[in-house]
Amino acid sequence: MMKILLHICCAPCSIFPIKRLKESRMEVVGYFYNPNIHPYQEYKRRRDAVQGYVDLVQLPVMYRDEYNLEEFLQNVVFREQERCHYCYHSRLESAARAAAQEHIPQFTSTLLYSRHQNHQLIKEMGESLAKHHGLKFYYEDFRKGWNDGIETSKKLSIYRQQYCGCIYSEKERYIKAGKLLPNNEPLPPKAVLVQPGEKQRHREGRRKRGHRSGM
Ligand code: SF4
Repeated sequence: MMKILLHICCAPCSIFPIKRLKESRMEVVGYFYNPNIHPYQEYKRRRDAVQGYVDLVQLPVMYRDEYNLEEFLQNVVFREQERCHYCYHSRLESAARAAAQEHIPQFTSTLLYSRHQNHQLIKEMGESLAKHHGLKFYYEDFRKGWNDGIETSKKLSIYRQQYCGCIYSEKERYIKAGKLLPNNEPLPPKAVLVQPGEKQRHREGRRKRGHRSGM
């Protein structure tokens, strides 16, 4: 049975890849290292969800349980638009290193399951890192199991996160959804004085009124 190290980004994304690799009769060892998940409570929640799921499917997992928030931010600041490059690389590099240390001849990542990630970049990076460490990068387009993974995670009530991971993605997720601040609006206005007992009016409310009046 061929051994493979599977980098796991979160529980829902791991469901289909674990199933596929086991079906292919591979001996799977999970690897958790995701310093891109912010803030800490969210990191802990996702890590615990992984622990719960892998217990269920009886998968051994190596945890590099380091919440390297500062290191992550220091590496993406001033180039936030390209942050995913560093993010993928730091995690895949760590996984490749662990596979080499453990004498596991190949590795892959649950990042290949997501429809929201740069699939081609992950594939190329994985292949390049594998070459560098004398390993094989196992490539499969796990996106084909998107619905399968979602259905199973809902059925098992596995925690399903609402944003990719970093604080930037959290901001984009909620601003895009219009839940906190409206899109494309300039810098926040000056502070507004709110008297005791008076309800603070959120900018979202003003946006809605603006939309109505514009229609
Ligand atoms: S958006 Fe997602 S992949 Fe990109 S840097 Fe943030 S956590 Fe990483």
